Amino acid sequence: MQFIDTHAHVYSEELLPDLNQLMQNAISSGVNKIFMPAIDSHSLEAMLSVERAFPENCFAMMGLHPCYVKENVQAELAIVADQLSKRKFPAIGEIGLDFYWDKNFVSQQQLAFNTQMQWALDYNLPIVIHTRNAIGETIEAVKPFAKKGLRGIFHCFSGSKESAEQIIGMGFHLGLGGVLTYKNAGVAEAIKDIPMEWLVLETDAPYLSPVPYRGKKNEPAFIIEVAKKLAEIKNIPLHEVAAMTTKNAEKVFLTPDAVML
Ligand SMILES: [Zn+2]
Repeated sequence: MQFIDTHAHVYSEELLPDLNQLMQNAISSGVNKIFMPAIDSHSLEAMLSVERAFPENCFAMMGLHPCYVKENVQAELAIVADQLSKRKFPAIGEIGLDFYWDKNFVSQQQLAFNTQMQWALDYNLPIVIHTRNAIGETIEAVKPFAKKGLRGIFHCFSGSKESAEQIIGMGFHLGLGGVLTYKNAGVAEAIKDIPMEWLVLETDAPYLSPVPYRGKKNEPAFIIEVAKKLAEIKNIPLHEVAAMTTKNAEKVFLTPDAVML
């Protein structure tokens, strides 16, 4: 079985010391492709160095994460723009709105999100969206761009059934991770009737480890636990979950202007 981890921060300081072991675990579990969302300029070099070390397996996205949007937003966006002009990326991400941690930079977050969605259209790339305490605002912000053909993934989906339907109605995929395995999270119920073609898997490593690894550092190999849970919810064999979510992830990231897988 093959899996694609559509969202893992394998370059994070928590995971870097054990990177070789983590990659061995991933590859021996069938997780051959890992997409790395960018955060901001501080972690850029670490991300690109992981990509250089594992060019067949790890693919860097480019973007400015909403939690890292501060008063220096223009300088950070200029670095994203520079990177986008220099080389190819499979996606722009992770970008979006986060009103959970800090509401001091809402207007800057909106500016950064809109700017980066326009760049995704300009470069014909998909986006990977981070949204927290802002699902309604995020869907509204994406709508006009989706009408112009923008596509991508709502990463770590944990919204309602109504949100899930609105998202796939815009042609966007839902990224499912460890939260799917948590009791009472409600995600299982929200996605139960969403067709498989709109679902992709992720770990969000090192965060949000699936059951039974809760409390431990998450890593791409643990994606199997999310896949097992999805197989149970959909009542289909695990190998079908693997095949379908892999195909979906390839469809999202394999755009003509992105890197070749
Ligand atoms: Zn993330």
